Amino acid sequence: MRLSNGRPYLAIPGPSVIPEAVLRAMHRSSPNIYEGELIEMTHGLIPDLKALAGTQHQATIYIGNGHAVWEASLSNVIAPGDRVLVPATGRFATGWAEVAEGLGAEVQLIDFGLRSPMDFDRITDTLRADSDHRIKAVLGVHVDTSTSIKTDMGQLRAALDAAGHPALLMADCIASLGCDPFHMDAMGVDVMIAASQKGVMVPPGLGFVFFNDKAANVRANMPRVSRYWDWVPRANPDLYYQFFAGTAPTHHLYGLRVALDMIAEEGLNNVFARHERLAQAIWAAVIAWGKGGPVELNVRDAVHRSNAVTALRIGAPHGTNLRRWTQDNAGVTLGIGLGMSTRDDPNGDGFFRFGHMGHVNAHMVLGLLSTVQAGMQACHIPFGPGALDAATKVISGP
Ligand SMILES: *Cc1c(COP(=O)(O)O)cnc(C)c1O
Repeated sequence: MRLSNGRPYLAIPGPSVIPEAVLRAMHRSSPNIYEGELIEMTHGLIPDLKALAGTQHQATIYIGNGHAVWEASLSNVIAPGDRVLVPATGRFATGWAEVAEGLGAEVQLIDFGLRSPMDFDRITDTLRADSDHRIKAVLGVHVDTSTSIKTDMGQLRAALDAAGHPALLMADCIASLGCDPFHMDAMGVDVMIAASQKGVMVPPGLGFVFFNDKAANVRANMPRVSRYWDWVPRANPDLYYQFFAGTAPTHHLYGLRVALDMIAEEGLNNVFARHERLAQAIWAAVIAWGKGGPVELNVRDAVHRSNAVTALRIGAPHGTNLRRWTQDNAGVTLGIGLGMSTRDDPNGDGFFRFGHMGHVNAHMVLGLLSTVQAGMQACHIPFGPGALDAATKVISGP
């Protein structure tokens, strides 16, 4: 017997659950792209995006996914032969590094592995050793979605400052925007990138690039920037089409308008607090399960864990079996392990992830945890007792 018919739950770390209100806003006839409400609405999105990013500087919207803004951001400040430093805490950092390489940059990678936070002293030492300031930018992933390691971007800024190094600090907040607290200006981040399909609750298709005056100055001194990726006309368009270098992503913009309204109505700090509490419930359950079985949180220390995504280790073949069971029998799709093993490594079946970003509430997380426990039972994976009690205790509060 299957118990999966009913509303499916995509509990993967992006794309995330889309609110009905966002879907309804997108379900409409095409607007005029030359005059009227769409133009006004687009101008109105910019201050709200800046508020979400915690910046008073510039915001741009690209039609594209996360990979697009990886490329867009670098295209404005990195020329062939320029060097970037990439302190890596997972697969997404190396992904951004590969895009830099594709643009002709020289990549200097510091690999902190798949379970450890960045060692900021090592980053400072590396920057100090770069005495002729060849490194033009440091690429930091705020939350690496593969490992679920969160990096304090303020501390990464302090690592640059301690070395007295003038490199740009660029942050990938694709997984974390609207989930894990981040304030671009206060944290001294010069360029920040994000996308629509995670904490922002809109389907994949929009990318965001935010940049400050220091980054704008680096852009101004570039030998050339591709017309399409150039952020200058996008940030200050004379004509509407320059916002997007072509036709606007009309329906996504209606969805984004509603999503930003939802975040404003709840209050950004309340949105962060909701994610934090839900994440704590997940961690409490996993820790209890792990006392009597193989499942464990990938990130051992809670201060380095994201509130948006949780990477788990359970040993092969349990991860794959569990994902299959929850999807086929309960209508819950879990995230695959990503970047934790090579493709033909049999241990690859020992990882999975929970996405808990964006439009997620207590009953969804409690349903997720109960379903995973049922799946472990069905798949004969041992686990410790008391996990669901531990989670409900976190949810019900002190
Ligand atoms: C999802 C994600 C990306 C890639 O986004 P795509 O839309 O899949 O290209 C990059 N960085 C981080 C941190 C992400 O979570």
